[in-house]
This record gives sequence, C-alpha cells and structure tokens, in this order.
Amino acid sequence: MSKGPQRIRGTQDIWGEEADRFQKVVETFDRVRRLYAFQRVEMPVFEATAVFSRSLGETTDVVAKEMYTFLDRGGDSLTLRPEFTAGLCRAYLSEGWQQLAPLKIATHGSVFRYERPQKGRFRQFHQLDAEIIGAEAAAADVELLVFADQLLHELGIADGVTLQLNTLGDAETREAWRAALVAHFEAHRGDLSEDSLARLDKNPLRILDSKDVRDRPIADSAPAIDDYLSAAAADFFARVTAGLDASGVAWTRNARLVRGLDYYRHTAFEFVTDRLGAQGTVLAGGRYDGLIESLGGPHTPAVGWAAGIERLAMLLDAPAPPQVEAALVPMGEAAEAAAQRILAELRRAGIATDMLFKGNMKKRMAKAAATGARFAVIIGDDELARGQAGLKDLGSGEQQDVALDRLVEALRGR
Ligand code: ATP
Ligand code: MG
Repeated sequence: MSKGPQRIRGTQDIWGEEADRFQKVVETFDRVRRLYAFQRVEMPVFEATAVFSRSLGETTDVVAKEMYTFLDRGGDSLTLRPEFTAGLCRAYLSEGWQQLAPLKIATHGSVFRYERPQKGRFRQFHQLDAEIIGAEAAAADVELLVFADQLLHELGIADGVTLQLNTLGDAETREAWRAALVAHFEAHRGDLSEDSLARLDKNPLRILDSKDVRDRPIADSAPAIDDYLSAAAADFFARVTAGLDASGVAWTRNARLVRGLDYYRHTAFEFVTDRLGAQGTVLAGGRYDGLIESLGGPHTPAVGWAAGIERLAMLLDAPAPPQVEAALVPMGEAAEAAAQRILAELRRAGIATDMLFKGNMKKRMAKAAATGARFAVIIGDDELARGQAGLKDLGSGEQQDVALDRLVEALRGR
C-alpha cells in the first residue's frame, strides 16, 4: 500500500456501520427536538477568539489549552468553535434574538479541541446542542432535562446512563462555598497536582472536576455545597427536582459535581455511563445566567446542554443498514440501455433502487441479494422485447413476469 496523505491525529473518517449509528443519533435528536418545540439553527464553525475566551473563562482547560486559534489573512484572531453555547449567545446578541426570548434552539455539528486523542475523545468531534436563552424559571431547566432523558430513551441507551444533578447556587452561595473549598484545599496543598495548585488561586471549584488521581481523594472529601446554599438557591433547586419528579425523570444528587467552564450557575448536570471507560459523560450542561453579560450583553438567564455524538453512537446497537427495496439486474446490451430509464422511473416513484451491471448473471444475482432488497427486477433483451421484466422475490425465489408500465405498482403492492 502506498503511504499517501494521512488523517490528522484526533480526526475521524466515519463510515459504514459507524456512520449509520452516527446518523441515527442525529435523526433521533432532530425528531425529539421538534416534540419539545426547539427551533433548528445553523452556526458558523469559527468565531472571534474573544467570544470563547471571555465567556468560557481564560483559565479553563478549553481556553488555556484546547482551542484551535489562528490569525486569518486579515490579521484577525479566530477560533474554531470548541462548543456551541458561546457562539449561540453571540448570535443572540448580534441577531437581535432578544425579541424572541425565551428562545428554544437546537443545533449540531463539528467542534474542535486540542486534546490527547483516545477512545471517545477526539480533536474534531461532534455535538448535539440544545439551549433555552432568556428564561429564568426552573421550568426551563426541567424542560431541557426531560428532553435529554427522552432522547436517551428513544436512542435505546437510557439503561446504564444516570443523570447526576447538582446546584452551583447563586453568587452568594458560590462565594461562601468557594471560601470553604479554598480552606479545605489549602489544608491539603502538599498532595494536590500541579494543575490543581494553579487552579487553587484562580478557580478552586474546578479542582472538584480534576481527573488527576492525586486530586481525587481530596476533591471527594471536600465540603459539599449544601451547607452554603442560600434560601433562594435552595428554592430554585427544589423546583428543578420537583419538576423532574413530576415528569418521571430519574436523577441522583452529586453534591460535588461542577462543570469545567466558568459560566455555570444554579443547575449543573451530567448524564454518565460506566460503559465508556474514562470518557463516561455523554451529555452535560447547566444554567449559565452570567454568560451573555460576559459578552457585553444585558443580564440574560439561560440554560442548555451539549452531548457528544460519538459517545452516544458508541452506546447504540447497530441500526439496520439502509436497504434498497429493489435491485435492478439488466442482462444484454439493449436491456442495459433501457435499464437506465427504468432505474430513473423507480427512483422518481420513491422506490429505493440499486442497479447491478457487472459480472455474469450469477454474480449479479448474488450482488442483488447482498443489497438486502426484497425484489430483483431482471431485465433481459427477450423480456424487454415483450415490454416486460422478471420480478424475483429474493426471499422465496419465486419469479413472475410483470409489464414494465406496471412495475412501480407491482413493487409497491407488496
Ligand atoms: P470531558 O470531561 O469528557 O472532557 P467536557 O466536560 O470537556 O467532557 P463538555 O464541554 O461538557 O465536555 O462537552 C459536552 C459533551 O461533549 C461531553 O459530555 C462529551 O460527551 C462530549 N465531548 C467533550 N469533549 C470531547 C472530545 N474531545 N471528544 C469527543 N467527545 C467529547
Ligand atoms: Mg474536556
């Protein structure tokens, strides 16, 4: 094999059964988002770098280490989107979507992060994304969570995936909890990883989210937020959990769950499985009331989630491969010419059809069977002269002649 150009590390060529599973995730998402009345939007793949650095937080892993940032030919600093939320909030401001608030939007596509590639972790990967922008009520958090739960059920992967839920409280709560966390981590300073020592000064909450084994015991024994929740924050969280219970969505409390980005407030959640090793979070999100302000907009409450399409697809059973309904098998020169017309007619009539025109009759019939089609339409020069085709049931082996002008009807009638 010649060694031509290679795929870039962390990117994927998705094909065959994997592409079918990927497609099933996207189709199911699109169907379910309609049930919840979310509008579809399409977003740019790159934004001004400041859109992400300001909103995600300069010290977050994504901004500090993972962004694909470059100067374009005009000298502007651009960044390939590492997530959707910040770009959607930018659009909310620049497109005047404020008038539409509360706005329920959904999108999906490629996102880019410079990470160490491994199973379930890529540099170009794909996310589903759903957001409600301009909604302060806990009902919005509930709606998004019930949507996510229904998506996982309709994908057939809800078993073995648990919803872990937490609140990060309001500003008052966060300050008090933060002080308690700093005291706890300071007491264990000597045992923390270098990364977490740096986080201790800038954003101690994020130590709770560390994947470093040295940090885990310290993070797991850290004070939970409950002792610091303000009455207002506790009330908001109670509304969210009551809504989930009323909607029949199972959840478990994880009082130490935080999210990797700075913009989260109140609700934070992850749908987690143990079937994907270290890459067990399939869908995650929360409330980000401060994000739009960090982009220079007015105070705007909002909540949303994103899911990794690849991770969801890895959990799926292989869907049935796409099947054609009819396989056209022309034999002879005149038949091959006529088959072009018949093929176009069948497809225009909405019958998925493939044509097999290589090899001897035996080879063609074997290939016809391999398409998974129920019927082969056999066109020989003799049949053609009579204005007919042979219709062969590939299951039973039965064959009968059908007039060409009744072919669509005959295929449909079964
Ligand atoms: P992780 O902890 O796995 O790095 P994250 O907190 O960085 O995830 P989010 O920013 O919340 O992830 O992105 C939402 C979802 O996108 C994740 O739950 C996961 O399913 C998926 N995801 C994140 N990073 C990657 C990646 N590099 N490759 C594939 N999927 C990813
Ligand atoms: Mg990450």
